[in-house]
Amino acid sequence: MSEICNDKLEYKNLIHGEWVSSKSGKLIKISSPVDGSFIGGVQAVTKDEVDDIVQFSKANFDAWSEVPIFEKADILYRAAELLEEREEEIANILMMEISKDKKSSISEVKRTADFLRFTADAGKSMKGSAVSGENFPGGSRNKLSYVKRVPLGTVLAISPFNYPINLSASKIAPALIGGNTVILKPATQGAVSALHLVKAINDAGLPDGVLQTVTGKGSEIGDYIVTHEGIDFINFTGSTEIGQHISKISSMTPLLLELGGKDAAIVLEDADLEFAANNIVDGAFSYSGQRCTAVKRIITTDKVADQLVDMLKVRIEKLSVGDPRENAQITPLIDNKSADFAESLINDAINKGAKIVIGNKRKDNLIYPTLIDYVTDEMEIAWKEPFSPILPIIRVNNISEAIEIANRSEYGLQSSVFTNDINKAFSIAEKLEVGTVQINNKTERGPDHFPFLGVKASGMGTQGVKYSIDAMTRPKAITVNVT
Ligand code: NAD
Repeated sequence: MSEICNDKLEYKNLIHGEWVSSKSGKLIKISSPVDGSFIGGVQAVTKDEVDDIVQFSKANFDAWSEVPIFEKADILYRAAELLEEREEEIANILMMEISKDKKSSISEVKRTADFLRFTADAGKSMKGSAVSGENFPGGSRNKLSYVKRVPLGTVLAISPFNYPINLSASKIAPALIGGNTVILKPATQGAVSALHLVKAINDAGLPDGVLQTVTGKGSEIGDYIVTHEGIDFINFTGSTEIGQHISKISSMTPLLLELGGKDAAIVLEDADLEFAANNIVDGAFSYSGQRCTAVKRIITTDKVADQLVDMLKVRIEKLSVGDPRENAQITPLIDNKSADFAESLINDAINKGAKIVIGNKRKDNLIYPTLIDYVTDEMEIAWKEPFSPILPIIRVNNISEAIEIANRSEYGLQSSVFTNDINKAFSIAEKLEVGTVQINNKTERGPDHFPFLGVKASGMGTQGVKYSIDAMTRPKAITVNVT
């Protein structure tokens, strides 16, 4: 512990293999959204320090890219073991830093350890390929192209507050196995958890300067690092607003964006409604709705809407609300600003004629699970991402209307279709403008080797174990002309 922070819980950054404090002398205080307790201080890194960090990344790139892939994989396997050994400690920090219930905090750490192992396995199976010239009209049988994947250079990984361990690791591990050096800039709230992940990976035996961290407010240091000429790839997860901003300022630097969503669960008349209600409540309310793939609206036909609403209400009533240490399912939101926004969405819907089925109660930054019926086009909750435990229901007359409303969103992350008619499910799935359609399942990320992507304002590029390695490497062709 002493290496990563001092006894006042002042956390340091990993820079060229050493845990160091910033010359700025400025610390950003991180308090728990649960009870206001002090979690730690993280360094506000200066621009000069960013320059040094990027330079260390560049200086160590060649050596790291040449490390045999089996050795890189061994480091990730070892990091997975270390994470599991430190599971309890890290999960406790995660729980208090971002207000995530204990069970989900432990499962985030476990899932991350699995992700590291799967990424190591996938890296070892990258074999390259050979393409013969004779297979193309006019081609020559004397020509052979050997194609392998090579790293891009220095990857800047920027992660959000809601899965600081998992969404940092899902960038770092594929980048490393692909041969890149990595700089992680975690969200400020979540940075302490993310630094513990980095410590586990570093302790597993990474050479100095291969993985480094930059903490500091995105609004202060973000633009500088994103536009730094030494960055070769940006892998960003966060809000659409910041993602679009980064995309505008980053010029020719290639990037991958995982952004916001407004995932719809379309429930048809022939669906197993009990099953759909169970599944949707889980999908909408786990981690208090602060998930990019949370179910953020239900679209259903008038014929079954009343029945579905009753079933949802019964289940929502049973959700435990309160303290993550007591494993409450609905816990305080990340900050008061988020709770203010959630409340404003509820009030806007009420003012425009929606009906609150359950919820609409707030205690500080704790928003009680809220189900809103009769949501119409002019209400903000029909289109905006609440990132809180609010579930709107949009009633429609038929399937075409459901598809039209689902597709009218600016977002395109995922959609669910609940039905017992597989033909109908496939036909609707073909028409939905999203990265992934879930049939008879809530919208969710994973298993982690599935492709994960958003279209429209939900992002650009594909993640998932193998897909992420592909995204952070490029093909290199070496062609032989046998004369
Ligand atoms: P955010 O956009 O506020 O912050 C994300 C990261 O960007 C943080 O590390 C922040 O410090 C950094 N940042 C801010 N300004 C920056 C700048 N100018 N330059 C560089 N970096 C900057 O998002 P958040 O509140 O942490 O996370 C919630 C959002 O993330 C939601 O919209 C959610 O849907 C989205 N999200 C998407 C996915 C996905 O896979 N599609 C997953 C999780 C979260």
